[in-house]
Amino acid sequence: MPVLSVTGLSKRYGSVEAVRDVTFAVEPREIVGLLGPNGAGKTTTINMVLGVLEPSVGSVVIEGADLATHRAQALARTNFAAVYSSLPGNLTVYQNLRVFGLIYAVRNLRARIEESLSEFDLLRFRDVKCGVLSSGEQTRVALAKAMLNRPHLLLLDEPTASLDPSMAKDIRKRIRAFADNGGSGVLWTSHNMYEVEEVCDRVLFISKGRILLEGDPRKLPGENGAKTLEELFIALARESLAPEPT
Ligand code: ATP
Repeated sequence: MPVLSVTGLSKRYGSVEAVRDVTFAVEPREIVGLLGPNGAGKTTTINMVLGVLEPSVGSVVIEGADLATHRAQALARTNFAAVYSSLPGNLTVYQNLRVFGLIYAVRNLRARIEESLSEFDLLRFRDVKCGVLSSGEQTRVALAKAMLNRPHLLLLDEPTASLDPSMAKDIRKRIRAFADNGGSGVLWTSHNMYEVEEVCDRVLFISKGRILLEGDPRKLPGENGAKTLEELFIALARESLAPEPT
């Protein structure tokens, strides 16, 4: 069973059609990249999968549970991290992980927090308030929080955007291992095509709310007459910016 099935999903904000009839699935152990230019509809899609935004049309099913009718069940095995969603700054790293661990009813929470602090190189920040951490350190706390309950569906909105190249590489490795070993599915947005080629099994290219192209990020460029994924991204983005036929 896919960990995530999205069918015919659309979202309209007044006259703006942010997401239009999007259908895709994420399988266990699969990392799927959601790519597209600024304003393409990636965050809106992720927010509908998270249940933060209600779709105008369409369905989101997480491990067989429909988000519209079995919300608690669907979201129990889900977690996410995003650069724009920071953790409470007046709580320490430990307190933040503890609060979220209690919310997610994580078993053996004390031990799991220690494991996460070590995994994300956060031991020395245990009693530091999140608000004073650098953006890269905050990102690591957010990722530790996102994996604390070992979610079966992990949503990551530009998870490595504020990390230095060495830390970003390490985090990519951890997320890959998380998917491989835990059987979880990951939906990942990024503007870094090098990263996407390294980590994603499959990508969905979205523009103006629609999926334009889907496939293996290592094969797609050759199949579409481009040398690299970045070149393909730029060509698709330019093409999609052209005015639509009336
Ligand atoms: P980026 O790469 O810049 O983060 P994105 O692909 O995540 O972009 P979204 O944030 O999903 O894009 O936005 C999709 C479209 O919907 C944009 O045109 C945006 O301006 C519009 N939009 C998003 N939220 C709202 C809102 N609350 N009200 C009106 N329009 C919105």
